Amino acid sequence: MLLCDMLWAMSVAVRLPRRKKAASAPQAADLLAWYDRHRRVMPWRARQGERTPPYAVWLSEIMLQQTTVKTVGPYFEKFLTKWPTVEALALASLDDVLRAWAGLGYYARARNLHACARAVVERHNGIFPDTIEGLLALPGIGDYTAAAVGAIAFDAPAVPVDGNVERVVTRLYAIEEALPAAKPKIKELATSLLPSQRSGDFAQALMDLGATICSPKRPACSLCPWHEPCVARAEGRQEEFPHKAAKKEGKLRRGAAFVVVRDDGFILLRTRPDKGLLAQMTEVPGTAWSHDFNLADAEAGAPLKAGWRRLPGVVEHTFTHFPLELTVFAARVPKSSKAPKDMRWSAVKDVHDEALPTVMRKVLAHAFAMPAPARGRLRKSAR
Ligand code: SF4
Repeated sequence: MLLCDMLWAMSVAVRLPRRKKAASAPQAADLLAWYDRHRRVMPWRARQGERTPPYAVWLSEIMLQQTTVKTVGPYFEKFLTKWPTVEALALASLDDVLRAWAGLGYYARARNLHACARAVVERHNGIFPDTIEGLLALPGIGDYTAAAVGAIAFDAPAVPVDGNVERVVTRLYAIEEALPAAKPKIKELATSLLPSQRSGDFAQALMDLGATICSPKRPACSLCPWHEPCVARAEGRQEEFPHKAAKKEGKLRRGAAFVVVRDDGFILLRTRPDKGLLAQMTEVPGTAWSHDFNLADAEAGAPLKAGWRRLPGVVEHTFTHFPLELTVFAARVPKSSKAPKDMRWSAVKDVHDEALPTVMRKVLAHAFAMPAPARGRLRKSAR
């Protein structure tokens, strides 16, 4: 061997981590035994040995997409109280559903929720299909939700793979391939772990393990039922997984929002178009949100003539595909002011009942936290 080849071989030997072998293959039984002792109590989860009805599983799973358990809890209770069955939800108006959903974000979910409830009633007589194929045919139900509802409500042999489960599985097998390309492999390995019974408990156990033990930072491996077979743990590389491909950041968009309050305590609102981002949600009037927004021209987009005052600072919000900055203008107008076409006055005290998306709640909070514009103070009751 040439000297340079020897040096290269030595350098590789030094650089590469030595792969340790995990002691054994992971067993579903170990995870289920752990789950029986440590399962989380959640409003949508049945007691041990019982099964959650499909309506509650489906409702909670739609709400939990991109949203934390803590945030979802009160919304889940509110929906179940207002609409205790899928038939009741199907009979509700979309506007009512959007109002009840306001603040939970990702509003396409609320529209799909409503469409799905109607489809279950119209196509299936109000009974959720018990197969993955049947569930997948419903509006707003993708692979993850079909697997979750199928497994948890019907014990179908399926594994819902969310971010928590991806983390557990990539660590368990030290999967070097980065997400999202690694998704099919993760699904295959997760499915290979499925026990012949208790699919629903297995799915929830995996979710709980990822949420409580196998955390992104400093996982509590000593408490993990798969401590022995976990390859990443054996190699001391837990926090390296999952590998993720670099994300493309969306380009910043900017715009202006106009908060105008009438002297008798009414605020000017409008409903967004039927299609597109935040479709059919309520907003204060504003300009388009664009990459080349020019603040100097903003007042030309105001809904009516008034003594507009630009509020200091901006409202920042991040949508999944772009960040947004809104400059807020505020004005006070006389009680006799007419609402422009396609806009309406809504009592400030009732504004919390409107289907306001989070970004608009931020705009109002920003406006109402500021010192009063020209015609006196805005009432703080809308915050
Ligand atoms: S041993 Fe640690 S890294 Fe491996 S699955 Fe368990 S908690 Fe996660």
